[in-house]
Amino acid sequence: MILNLKKKLGQHLLNNNSILEKIASNAIGSSVVIEIGPGTGNLTEYLLKNISLKTLILIEKDPDMVLELKKRFSDNRIIILNEDATTIKIQNILATYNIAEKAFVIGNFPYNVGNSIIVNLLEQINYIVKIVALLQKEVVQRFCALPKTKDYGKLTVLSGLFCNAKKIMDVVPTNFTPPPKVMSSVLELTPKNNIITLEQYKNIVKFCNIGFNNRRKKLIPLLKQFYTTQEIEKITNIIKNDNARIEELSVDVISEIFLILK
Ligand code: SAH
Repeated sequence: MILNLKKKLGQHLLNNNSILEKIASNAIGSSVVIEIGPGTGNLTEYLLKNISLKTLILIEKDPDMVLELKKRFSDNRIIILNEDATTIKIQNILATYNIAEKAFVIGNFPYNVGNSIIVNLLEQINYIVKIVALLQKEVVQRFCALPKTKDYGKLTVLSGLFCNAKKIMDVVPTNFTPPPKVMSSVLELTPKNNIITLEQYKNIVKFCNIGFNNRRKKLIPLLKQFYTTQEIEKITNIIKNDNARIEELSVDVISEIFLILK
């Protein structure tokens, strides 16, 4: 197959069959699977081996790849959508195809927009059973980071409020065509059962932006510009330390703050 791979769309095709099989094996047992960035369909091929699979929805931004996928697959379990994964609405997609179940989301993500795709998915976590994503290793480390480390930040907190994060494995550049300049890892995000409203989510994003954009500053004085005296008092009661910086607060402490801020 002669295909011009597009760098700006993060097109690095995974070419190692045992790694493809291993990644796909995470979705075994799931009946509704959404694959992000299927490209030419290397991972798709393995996802189709799952005997429980009823519907596999492919989300691919590049119309040329969509043509390739249509040529390669005639399986009637597949739905191919030429859409942008940073803005897809899973609820709408599932409703369009009368699917009442949650979806398992998987893929070798385009690394340049990997963060935005995950943030979009986190907002819709109520429709997702699990996310398994191949991403730049550095990004995966941010999801799995502990407080007081340089990797601990907004991404860690936002995902940590909704999901437990785990690195499944590392993947070296030689397993891709063309090889990316960075190391890769497979991330697993398993949703927690806490219900967070959209309103709360917006508040959390605001709080994280204030804190992590000034991560070396003391948090309480910083927050005084943005929250009422009453709110500051409640936050101080939870943090219990006027000198704390946001990077010292665990995800559990931050979620406690949001329970009281409504
Ligand atoms: N899964 C394939 C290809 C991965 S490369 C494999 O492992 O071989 C990443 C793929 O994501 C490319 O096909 C690229 O066109 C697609 N892509 C890039 N940006 C996207 C976006 N915003 N939404 C959906 N797909 C995107």
